[in-house]
Amino acid sequence: MSRDDRAEGAQSSRPPSIDRMANWPELAPLIGRAGRPLVVEALRAWAEAGRGTPTVSDPAACAAWCASRLQPLASSSLKRVFNLTGTVLHTNLGRALLAEEAIEAAVIAMRSPATLEYDLEGGARGERDDHIAPWLCRLTGAEAATAVNNNAAAVLLALSALAAGREVIVSRGELIEIGGAFRIPDIMARAGCRLVEVGTTNRTHPKDYAAAIGPDTAAIMKVHPSNYAVQGFTSAVSAAELVPLAREKGLPVIEDLGSGTLVDLETWGLPHEPTAREAVAAGIDVVTFSGDKLLGGPQAGLLVGKTALIERIAKNPMKRALRLDKVRLAALEATLRLYADPERLVKRLPTIRTLARSPAEIRAQAERLMPAFASALGDGWQTGIEAVRGQIGSGALPVDLLPSFALAVTGKGLAKLAAAFRRLPIPVIGRIQDGMLLFDLRTLDDETAFVAQLRELEP
Ligand SMILES: *Cc1c(COP(=O)(O)O)cnc(C)c1O
Repeated sequence: MSRDDRAEGAQSSRPPSIDRMANWPELAPLIGRAGRPLVVEALRAWAEAGRGTPTVSDPAACAAWCASRLQPLASSSLKRVFNLTGTVLHTNLGRALLAEEAIEAAVIAMRSPATLEYDLEGGARGERDDHIAPWLCRLTGAEAATAVNNNAAAVLLALSALAAGREVIVSRGELIEIGGAFRIPDIMARAGCRLVEVGTTNRTHPKDYAAAIGPDTAAIMKVHPSNYAVQGFTSAVSAAELVPLAREKGLPVIEDLGSGTLVDLETWGLPHEPTAREAVAAGIDVVTFSGDKLLGGPQAGLLVGKTALIERIAKNPMKRALRLDKVRLAALEATLRLYADPERLVKRLPTIRTLARSPAEIRAQAERLMPAFASALGDGWQTGIEAVRGQIGSGALPVDLLPSFALAVTGKGLAKLAAAFRRLPIPVIGRIQDGMLLFDLRTLDDETAFVAQLRELEP
């Protein structure tokens, strides 16, 4: 670019051509970092915004403006955060954290070709499900298993494969909506099934199911109520009561366990959550549950049950559209393998480790962190350690709260303070409750990283 070009640009307030601006030496470093196409896009916006002003021809101002416009694109929009909300499996924050073993397996599957659908022994095509089905059968006692994208997909697929065009009986107390617009009646409709509601919101009896069975009935469905609990004068029909009725009529029972778990949480002093093994043992024909809730693995929907039904499900064309990719299959297989040794689960699986932490241990952590926390906040705020109650999240045990301890702040402008915590290099997400900003420490494991960035807080 010649001196004249610059002079001409500076004198008129007409923006120089995009090409000419892109050649300004002031823009070279930005082009080096962000690449030419993005800078050209920013220059067009600059020319548009600055039309009619003399600054539009100022290379330094232009470079600074473009750099700040492109700044958000320089880092990924899916950011690591500290989840100190008190909800362990927080759907909006990505639910379960994977075990190191699962992360390693996923990385290998991402980097190299792998035996996704390949049988090494025969040198021929293999089955994708073979990586996880034997583990799921061993861990649940089921005859057969398969996996899809998530539990919503598992329910949709099971209904579509086993009951399309026919009726499915569900208790009114189980017609739930969970987050993200998953409603049982809508899923039924999408699967092409006719929903037959029985009983009332609070009470459903075996005779209600019996009366609803007709020539068009294809299945009976049970759904874990997940994110709500009906209390007081209630009655639900257990799987154990339903199964004999369904058997007599030759109908399958499908159960959506929601979170589901492969181990008894009472082992770690937690409340009981139905296990997949219990559902299978009760005679449920097809059981579905999530991979990234209590199981502690990647997002997935698992289906376990009777061979003939699982085969019909796996052969349905919709299965192809909902199947798992190699990265998640690798992570899922590695996660399931950890369950072979339940005693070490608490050390190796972050979900169980986090849920099993004792309040005393969390309190000790709060005391350790308090000096750094209080000094980062400065004099304008009152800080303290509060006994709080968190939750498992993702629909598991909604009313059973996990006793924990939180770093608490009181003072004027808590919403602004919460926003300042969210602006830290690794955003910290807490909750405001009872006039306090609370950071529940149950889910804090990287204490060093948490403390290291506190001095950057601008309260
Ligand atoms: C969470 C949940 C689902 C959806 O599971 P995703 O894996 O998120 O698709 C379905 N049914 C119940 C009862 C649930 O709790």
